[in-house]
Amino acid sequence: MWDTIGHEWAVAYLQKTIETDRIAHTTLFTGPAEIGKTHLARWFAAALHCQSDARRPCGTCRGCRDTHAGAHADLLLIEPDKGRVKIDQVRRIQHELALRPYNSPWRVCVVSGFETTTIEAANALLKTLEEPPPHAILLLTALDPGLLLPTIVSRCRVLSLRPVAPHTIADALVERYQVDPQRATEIAQLSAGRVGWAIRACEDPAMLDQRDADVQMLLKLFDQGPAARLRVAEELAQRDDVHPAIFEWQLVWRDIMLLAAGCDERLIVNQQQLPRLRHLAQSTGLESARAAAANAQDVVRQIAQNVNARLALETMLLSWQNR
Ligand SMILES: [Zn+2]
Repeated sequence: MWDTIGHEWAVAYLQKTIETDRIAHTTLFTGPAEIGKTHLARWFAAALHCQSDARRPCGTCRGCRDTHAGAHADLLLIEPDKGRVKIDQVRRIQHELALRPYNSPWRVCVVSGFETTTIEAANALLKTLEEPPPHAILLLTALDPGLLLPTIVSRCRVLSLRPVAPHTIADALVERYQVDPQRATEIAQLSAGRVGWAIRACEDPAMLDQRDADVQMLLKLFDQGPAARLRVAEELAQRDDVHPAIFEWQLVWRDIMLLAAGCDERLIVNQQQLPRLRHLAQSTGLESARAAAANAQDVVRQIAQNVNARLALETMLLSWQNR
């Protein structure tokens, strides 16, 4: 029983690889931040370590429990260290995967944020991908396969996860987290398919305030000149993680695109800003909004590839016309 929200096709696919014994040595889960890539990878790890004779993962055996607690002897969890997956972490992955499993048929390593891996570290991992030890399973997550070396991607089974439908997220928030239905619907809408974000937002209302502040910041910038924009770029570049703000801005551009294209207004994420967004859609037009959204996506890529964040943000903000 997989305790995942959405991504049913990916769960069915992974389940099938277990039942038919056609498990890939390396799987790459891609998709936007917080849509559940690492969560799904960990459930797959649990399925691999599950000791049940029935359908795996059972969720209750020692193998499943230890995997979820991050305490299984045959599981290694790697996250970026100060924003990067580094060569010493890759060496540790190679060392651990080369060992024989203790309590499972598999040694499993889950690496989150693989797009932050330095080229040197990614190249070092290639040898493991080319000739994996027979019991080694490597589960990588990344925002976009385009951010990785093609030589890495070509050696992975790639599962491209999409944002989860808001009604699926809302139902899960009500059923599993006992959130009030109206609040669940609002948060699911604002999450734009990011399951992890929606769950965190239910527990931490400050995230919704931060989100509002980021959207307001963008809307205000349309009325401001270059000096204010440069100030905002500097301020943002100093944040520990600038991606959530840029993601919210991408959603605003998406809303503007939808309105400019005459789509149903119920599809708009930022419902509270509807009058202002209508005005922006009229003055911007579909093509300019589309270009701005694509540009914001490029900035996310550039920052992931370690381009100077302040410079990338300055260029983006200065390119927006006053509205
Ligand atoms: Zn189990």
